[in-house]
Amino acid sequence: MEKIDIKSLNLDELTKFIEDIGEKKFRAAQIYKWLHQDLVVDFDSMSNISKSLKDKLKDASYITALVPVEVLTSNIDGTKKYLFKLEDGNIIESVFMRYNHGNSVCISTQVGCRMGCKFCASTLDGLARNLTPSEMLDEIYRIEKDTDERVSNIVLMGSGEPMDNFDNVIKFLNLITDENGLNISQRNITLSTCGIIPNIKKLADMEMGITLAISLHASDDDTRRELMPIANKYSIDEIIDVCKYYFEKTGRRITFEYSLVAGVNDTIKEATKLGELIKDLNCHVNLIPVNPIKERNFKQSQRLDIEKFKNYLEKYRNNVTIRREMGRDINGACGQLRKSYINQESQIEKEGDS
Ligand code: SAH
Repeated sequence: MEKIDIKSLNLDELTKFIEDIGEKKFRAAQIYKWLHQDLVVDFDSMSNISKSLKDKLKDASYITALVPVEVLTSNIDGTKKYLFKLEDGNIIESVFMRYNHGNSVCISTQVGCRMGCKFCASTLDGLARNLTPSEMLDEIYRIEKDTDERVSNIVLMGSGEPMDNFDNVIKFLNLITDENGLNISQRNITLSTCGIIPNIKKLADMEMGITLAISLHASDDDTRRELMPIANKYSIDEIIDVCKYYFEKTGRRITFEYSLVAGVNDTIKEATKLGELIKDLNCHVNLIPVNPIKERNFKQSQRLDIEKFKNYLEKYRNNVTIRREMGRDINGACGQLRKSYINQESQIEKEGDS
């Protein structure tokens, strides 16, 4: 019999599971608290659970526990990058950042990614697999335990496309906001997507209060197609429409992410076009100086061009910020740390073979 991933169960599902193995219902709340508030990673730590129930739980289920294999800490602002090993040996990356408004964790939602954005390191080797709800939770749980600090904000902006792992991401969001768990406010969660329209619509219909961030990166479809294959499937007009719908349904202001690539999407003309495009939307634009990856030729826009771009966008009374770089001394582009770790490991393996 396949073992149950106990940390991915919500309280109702856990209660059913506990009853199915012939135990009293109230045990479910105790176990749920151990998993989602005390953040334990083994059944033996559950001190109010009998030995015989622990044995039953061990037979029928397992507790997901990510293992940190590398942690880099910034000397500038205390940002920490974690590389975690999963049960099957896959490696993922998560980032812990300290802001004035609280601590934030940027999580991965998939191992790798199949969206193929040209400037992104996470997608270079394609998608390995989706992360389970418990693996996404444990990125945050392990970081709380390691730092001994409370996490109040979560961004789904690490490796992977959250809207390509829809059901698991929704389960994760329900668990992380549960008042019997870490109880993180929906308002403090941002989900970033390259724009898979049908799933954004589904998310809007759920009327959750999370912030939707759209990776736009261009103000016309031709330029967007050069950077992001998903643009062959959905047009910018369709994206704007679904953003309006999301705002109507949730009342949450949309964030647009726009990575500036020198000579590709950073001219005043493009800033003006972008301004026109979003002028009727209640939104915020986050300009990201592209972080060059060695596998591609993209260059970061000049600081002056970035400032000019911002000024032009602001003429449309848009709210615009330039992303502050956290952990500059430990920074690689999205997914680069993971990639260099994997390359290094496979080199060691090869040397071991010869
Ligand atoms: N798949 C999701 C979330 C992951 S990427 C998405 O596409 O939104 C998070 C953000 O970082 C996205 O806006 C992505 O386009 C951007 N990004 C990825 N690699 C980058 C790089 N090298 N430089 C700048 N931004 C990058």
